[in-house]
Amino acid sequence: MQEAPAFTVGAPYPVHVAYLRLLRRIHLDAGRLADGYAVDERIIRLAAAEGDTLQVALASLGRVHKRLNDNDPPAAMALLEGLNNQYRDQHNTEFAANAEMAYGAIYNATGQHDRALAHYLRALELVQHTPSLWSPREADVRLALARLYVNSGNPLKALETTRSYREARTAAALPPRVEALTYFLDGRAYVTLHQLAQAHAAFERALVLARKHDLRWIEANVLGNVSDAYLRAQRYVEAEHAARTAVALSEAVTDQSIIQMVYANLGFALFGQGRMTEGTGYIDRTTQELRKAGAMLAVSNILAEKGEALERAGLHKQALQTVREREKIQESLELERRNKAFAALQEQFNAKQRAAQIERLRQENAVKDAEIDNRNLRLALASLGAGIALLLSGFVFMLYRKSQRTSLRLAELNAELAHRSAHDPLTGLFNRRSFVDRMRAKQAASDDCFTLLDIDHFKRINDQHGHAAGDAVLVEVGRRLNEVVRGSDMVLRWGGEEFLVYSQGVSEAQRPLLVQRILNAIAGAPVVLEDGTALQVSATAGAVPLPIHATAGSGEAFGWEQAIALADRALYKGKEAGRNRAFIVEGVDGSAIGQGQEQERKPQLHLVLPDMFWQPAR
Ligand code: GH3
Ligand code: MG
Ligand code: MG
Repeated sequence: MQEAPAFTVGAPYPVHVAYLRLLRRIHLDAGRLADGYAVDERIIRLAAAEGDTLQVALASLGRVHKRLNDNDPPAAMALLEGLNNQYRDQHNTEFAANAEMAYGAIYNATGQHDRALAHYLRALELVQHTPSLWSPREADVRLALARLYVNSGNPLKALETTRSYREARTAAALPPRVEALTYFLDGRAYVTLHQLAQAHAAFERALVLARKHDLRWIEANVLGNVSDAYLRAQRYVEAEHAARTAVALSEAVTDQSIIQMVYANLGFALFGQGRMTEGTGYIDRTTQELRKAGAMLAVSNILAEKGEALERAGLHKQALQTVREREKIQESLELERRNKAFAALQEQFNAKQRAAQIERLRQENAVKDAEIDNRNLRLALASLGAGIALLLSGFVFMLYRKSQRTSLRLAELNAELAHRSAHDPLTGLFNRRSFVDRMRAKQAASDDCFTLLDIDHFKRINDQHGHAAGDAVLVEVGRRLNEVVRGSDMVLRWGGEEFLVYSQGVSEAQRPLLVQRILNAIAGAPVVLEDGTALQVSATAGAVPLPIHATAGSGEAFGWEQAIALADRALYKGKEAGRNRAFIVEGVDGSAIGQGQEQERKPQLHLVLPDMFWQPAR
């Protein structure tokens, strides 16, 4: 695209800056990243001279993306934090949404998918509330989400996101860039699903669009991934060809992440053809670059592929070494914890969106019902000519059909809601009902443990900081609990500010450690509210191991209800004793509770305090 200097000469500032913003978008869309970033610098100079801090802030976010493309996430993050501190107080939605997108991009690039998701979802909420926003567009956010889903190993969710997006936009044609990106992401999702024919078909559609509209960034990206698809099918010659075509293109668009991927693929393609030294050279250089950039998930993925390639070549010793190296990285990434947090966040967001959608439909229906009533009334009153009456009843019928359709959709949504009813909408945790269902389906086994918790002085938090702050604390406590328990454990919101952790396979020796981990998770660090207020939060807990046996010989185990009742009593004792602590009920025998012989077989209460104990104010 030719820039027209005459256009901006002597133009008033708002026209000039609007023109530059447009120019920037056109460059970036076309994959001319360097040109786009150069425009950012022009905007910064121009806006600074005018004292337009907002435009300076927005264009400075471009520098964050530049650092990211230069493979320097730490520098990108440092800059972004600085900008955010400086401009957050302006409360400008465009800045806020773009900052969320930038955080998402950094976390996505460094494999911290749970964090990336949180930021992208916040950006999505912002653009949905402000549809008139110039940037980012909802399309940008949805695409970023689909990309994140692919990267985090949720190909089906990615496919669903792109498909529903294309369907929703059939009336208004999608911009070629967006359409091409959706097919590109589909291709990557299919590669992950090992559906290679579909992957190539999707890549082909993306390539046709990219070439037709000169979208070189997309073209380079697609070609890099085409070579990846051939690699998976062990078609090394084709993989090499695609990678070599992509090399030239990716260097032209100067996006380091594409360049790295393309060289890694080239390395694997050569390796697969028996050119080991040459191949390993490319692979190791890429790994080094990615390591330097902190893109550890990418490193881990490459090492996995490298291990397999070495294995195929019969180089078992090197393969093993690679596997070890990868394991270390996997551990440091804390993938299990992150995946759990990811799922909980998604659940929370979905529930919120669904509730809003249902409310909208309900209102729509109410309006339509009112319209129908109104029409019917008039129809009845009107002793008009038959022709008119017929016309009117036709109209009523139409309205009725429309109302029926929304009712149907409402029913569908309600069914889905019922399905989701196993989760608490605020915290995304399981709810009491799902626990009861589970207990009905499966008897608690020995070495299971219930830990019931109640937040200390929670009313005070509500009173002093407002109900929203209370809610935020509940969400955070839920998140922390999920973080410290094992994947097989169940964390649920028992009610109000009470939580239950149902753990399986906890030995007697592990029990106090588990309970202490739980107390630490809550009281170990203050909960920081959105406005920066730090709250000291603690909880008191009661824990009971299972099963509790009824009278010896009867073979009957006491139910979970009794166990919870006991945990509740222990919790109450903890509150009395000063809070921020737990009592574990030890040595219980069902006969004691069952027959009221507490004097004879008194359960022992075992005290557990958090690591850094502090006493909540009375
Ligand atoms: P204690 O240490 O004795 O437990 O004191 P407490 O203040 O926590 O006392 P209590 O357990 O009786 O108080 C629970 C409060 O939690 C009362 C209720 O208003 C509040 N609450 C219950 N559900 C929610 C919720 O979903 N959001 C918020 N913000 N507050 C809730
Ligand atoms: Mg309570
Ligand atoms: Mg309480």
